[in-house]
Amino acid sequence: MKALKGYVTAYHNEVTGSSFLVVIERPDGITNRVLVDKGYFQEPKYRYLNYVDDLDPENIDAIVVTHNHIDHTGLIPKLVRQGYRNKIYMTEITQELIGDFLYDSAEQQEENAWDMRWRYPNEAHKFNALYYAEDVTKTLKLCEGIAYRKTIEILPGIKLTFWENAHILGASMVLLQCYYANMKPLNFLFTGDFKFANSFTRVPMFPKWFRNMELIMFCESTYGTTKREDIKQCFRANILEGFERRQDILIGAFAQDRMQGILYDFKLMQDEGLIPPEYQICVDGPLGISTCYGYRSILEWYNPTRKDFMPKGVRFMDTKSRDQIFEKGIPKIVITTSGMLNNGPAKVYVPKFLVRENALIHLVGYAAEETMARKLLDAKRDETVKIGGVVFQKKAVIKTTREKTSHATEEELLELIGMFNNIKFLGINHGNTDVKNDFGEDVVMECPNVEQVGIMDREHMYSFYRLGFKGDANTRLTVKARSAGLLNDSRLVFGREATSEELRERIQMEKERKQKRREKDARKGKKNGKRNKQKGAKKKARKNKKRN
Ligand SMILES: [Zn+2]
Repeated sequence: MKALKGYVTAYHNEVTGSSFLVVIERPDGITNRVLVDKGYFQEPKYRYLNYVDDLDPENIDAIVVTHNHIDHTGLIPKLVRQGYRNKIYMTEITQELIGDFLYDSAEQQEENAWDMRWRYPNEAHKFNALYYAEDVTKTLKLCEGIAYRKTIEILPGIKLTFWENAHILGASMVLLQCYYANMKPLNFLFTGDFKFANSFTRVPMFPKWFRNMELIMFCESTYGTTKREDIKQCFRANILEGFERRQDILIGAFAQDRMQGILYDFKLMQDEGLIPPEYQICVDGPLGISTCYGYRSILEWYNPTRKDFMPKGVRFMDTKSRDQIFEKGIPKIVITTSGMLNNGPAKVYVPKFLVRENALIHLVGYAAEETMARKLLDAKRDETVKIGGVVFQKKAVIKTTREKTSHATEEELLELIGMFNNIKFLGINHGNTDVKNDFGEDVVMECPNVEQVGIMDREHMYSFYRLGFKGDANTRLTVKARSAGLLNDSRLVFGREATSEELRERIQMEKERKQKRREKDARKGKKNGKRNKQKGAKKKARKNKKRN
């Protein structure tokens, strides 16, 4: 049976700016284009890509959103400003929350553009606000919320289903089933950012028909090389130690899920009588506070057992009260946006807490380069830290944990991939380049249910071959590339054969990749010989086990 012809293009590079375009060419001459996410690039080195017009908005037939994070949604209002007028699909929960986040993003656009003009003075004319509040209002009118597991036909021959995902409340995995009479269908599954469980929800088992479906799957890999054992569960112990020392505690949290999850932790501690009565819990950040209210009303129907996630006696802060935070001498726990302490009220709190001997600043998320969180972690005690042009001496204790991450570890990602029995192609995205490559190799070793693996970004797409194939490297790759029909412009073509030139290029890329890998291993080996040896032995043992 002939297969439908489909293309997938990746528009992201590493961990932000997530976006895929799926193009389906039907035999009757109709071409459908579905965009899955259009996220904002947050990494400083890729931020200029936000200002590149890489899509014709009038040519897109539908947009599907995996979840409410700006690095997956932040460029959608830009497309609307440029003329996009079709529907934007998301889960019902995402639809309830997305408005506040997009308006907040619109507010930051002027500042972002200003920052870009400063970074690239020679091209300053290129950087203007990408969109305004009025564009967000238009965007929200196009949004349509769909329940999990409800399949709807979004375009003739394209069905959409949202599947549960506990990355954040309302997150989903997106299934697009593309079909045409008497032709083999193409089923695309996008994991979005993925996690099995969080404080408010847990991913239930997926039905057999879905798990047995022939899939072309795109999987995130943010923590694709982080093992469960690498993540220490220390948050509660750190906080309890803080209480013992009567420290004032400042916690930087993302507005959605992280802030509410931390509040739920404090509620549990409060229920167990672990919070000294003199402590006051304060919450700050308009977006975080409005999301707390949003969570309350969503959990009312989505998961009533968690609707009372707030501890008792929480004080919502504003501009005035935050300035007087230490005036009454009451010990405080302040949970505030932003997660990396770069924006929002955190800018006011950090200097106040940093100079105090008896203060604890706790980070609960990733601290990217060039952020305040990174600066604080890198500075030694008594060293000076520059904040907004003013110098402060670091006296406070700074701690961090990865246990609150909303991304799956390597084991969890492999478990997710292992749930599906018939993956024709697995595209790995949303990870640093090295992580994507390493995780790709893990999939090759560990997942017999995956036929082919590719690494997705807008510039490259490498390919590997699954373990157990006999023959030399070149034939392996030829067979593999031919069956996937890989192109060199990071566009994947399903349903056609690759040209010999494309194959030669693939082989060359594969050689370079292997060489790089060898060099990296050699460097790593020098650094930590013993650990690598043990790891290698384990991998070999697994390999042999599979062969047998
Ligand atoms: Zn996310």
